[in-house]
Amino acid sequence: MAAQSFDTVVIGAGPGGYVAAIRAAQLGQKVCIVEREHMGGICLNWGCIPTKALLRSSEVFHLMERAKEFGLKADNIGYDLDAVVKRSRGVAKQLSSGIGHLMKKNKVTVIMGSATIPGKGKVKVETDKGTEELTAKNIVLATGARARELPGLEADGKRVWTYKAALQPPHMPKKLLVIGSGAIGIEFASFYNTLGADTTVVEVMDRVLPVEDEEISKFAKKAFEKQGMKILQKAMVKKLDRAADKVTAHIEIGGKVEKHDFDTVISAVGIVGNVEGLGLEALGVKIDRTHVVTDEYCRTGVDALYAIGDIAGAPWLAHKASHEGVMVAELIAGKHPHPIKPNSIAGCTYCHPQVASVGLTEAKAKEAGYKVKVGRFPFIGNGKAIALGEPEGLIKTIFDEKTGELLGAHMIGAEVTELIQGYVIGQKLETTEEDLFETVFPHPTLSEMMHEASLDAYGRVIHM
Ligand SMILES: Cc1cc2nc3c(=O)[nH]c(=O)nc-3n(C[C@H](O)[C@H](O)[C@H](O)COP(=O)(O)OP(=O)(O)OC[C@H]3O[C@@H](n4cnc5c(N)ncnc54)[C@H](O)[C@@H]3O)c2cc1C
Repeated sequence: MAAQSFDTVVIGAGPGGYVAAIRAAQLGQKVCIVEREHMGGICLNWGCIPTKALLRSSEVFHLMERAKEFGLKADNIGYDLDAVVKRSRGVAKQLSSGIGHLMKKNKVTVIMGSATIPGKGKVKVETDKGTEELTAKNIVLATGARARELPGLEADGKRVWTYKAALQPPHMPKKLLVIGSGAIGIEFASFYNTLGADTTVVEVMDRVLPVEDEEISKFAKKAFEKQGMKILQKAMVKKLDRAADKVTAHIEIGGKVEKHDFDTVISAVGIVGNVEGLGLEALGVKIDRTHVVTDEYCRTGVDALYAIGDIAGAPWLAHKASHEGVMVAELIAGKHPHPIKPNSIAGCTYCHPQVASVGLTEAKAKEAGYKVKVGRFPFIGNGKAIALGEPEGLIKTIFDEKTGELLGAHMIGAEVTELIQGYVIGQKLETTEEDLFETVFPHPTLSEMMHEASLDAYGRVIHM
């Protein structure tokens, strides 16, 4: 059979790949997307979406436990873990099948199978029905990433899990160890701790959520500990002894190794790019520590071969993958898109309380040589936060003293993952302190704290 030919073949249908395919089709290209497992990638099936569905259940559970505070009655509060997981899987399935409809609507050819690149402009796909050969003027690699596994700490799906098992738990952990306090580790810690698991988090760095501003990390630690979590910082899990009913973790802390028993361990120690078996080495694609090296336009250095999303490196976030997808599709179509600005990608963690940030931390801003003005506003000073029963939280802003440019914003508290976008738009529009002062924020909203945190940086805060 003659090879089918396309303007663009996208490999991988995660939020990077499927968005690239849609944008390329919108721009008039003949597009094919190849996916070996599930439309929507990790994000829709095993990442962003199903975790948020689980966390919503634990959030509602937590609110039910607090019913009395709101003048409500709720007796015999409990949960059915199987039903919680079923809901999460259902949400993932609904969204994943929605991607199939979007492909159809945009006339993107979908081939389910595993792709390799046997040569420039060629894609070979192994499907259930045999091999398909494609030719492509452009190839977009969007094969994503998978959980990193450390020697001795490998997941077994029974008592030691990575995110896939943690999303479909074979049992409810009673005594849980979470290794790693990045967004993924902390979200699972938050979910299981809220449902009653005795949860310990071990972090090798000197603070939880180590990429966040130091003050936010400290605030988060206190909040998690108040909820009963144990947090071990500057600590390292060296070894796991596995038995049928327990796992003994050897944890190095303060120069000593302590042994602690758990019934379940979640390993959340980062991810590795899916770079293997694609034929990249033969094409001359540069790979650095499991990620494809690209320039700011996601070009690999090999003509007409692009890499986007998790396979192209940090930050490993769905919205970064999608944005790169759009940029690459436009570049291929001869448009002149802007590359993503460093520090413009917000990070969100959907634990309780939520954490969100964009731009430079205070320490990073100072390291970069800025003289900074820092503002803070606590949730306890905000009417809406009190009315919601969510007085725990903080918003912190960092401005360049010289120009008034908003360098960074850092938040912890209810719904901050929704609020952060206000600052993201502000930064994109190169907002200064004056623009933020002159913006009228609706009342009563949590967003008023974004105003106040900006005013505070200049000694003009109102409600504090
Ligand atoms: C538990 C968890 C929670 C997360 N939560 C968030 C969050 O809240 N917000 C956020 O922004 N990010 C979150 N992420 C990260 C997010 O899921 C990723 O950044 C995002 O999915 C990356 O998109 P991608 O398109 O690069 O790759 P992926 O989503 O990984 O998709 C890659 C696709 O390529 C396919 N593929 C791989 N190799 C081949 C091949 N050879 N042939 C054909 N197909 C192939 C794979 O099957 C996969 O479907 C989370 C991740 C995890 C694990």
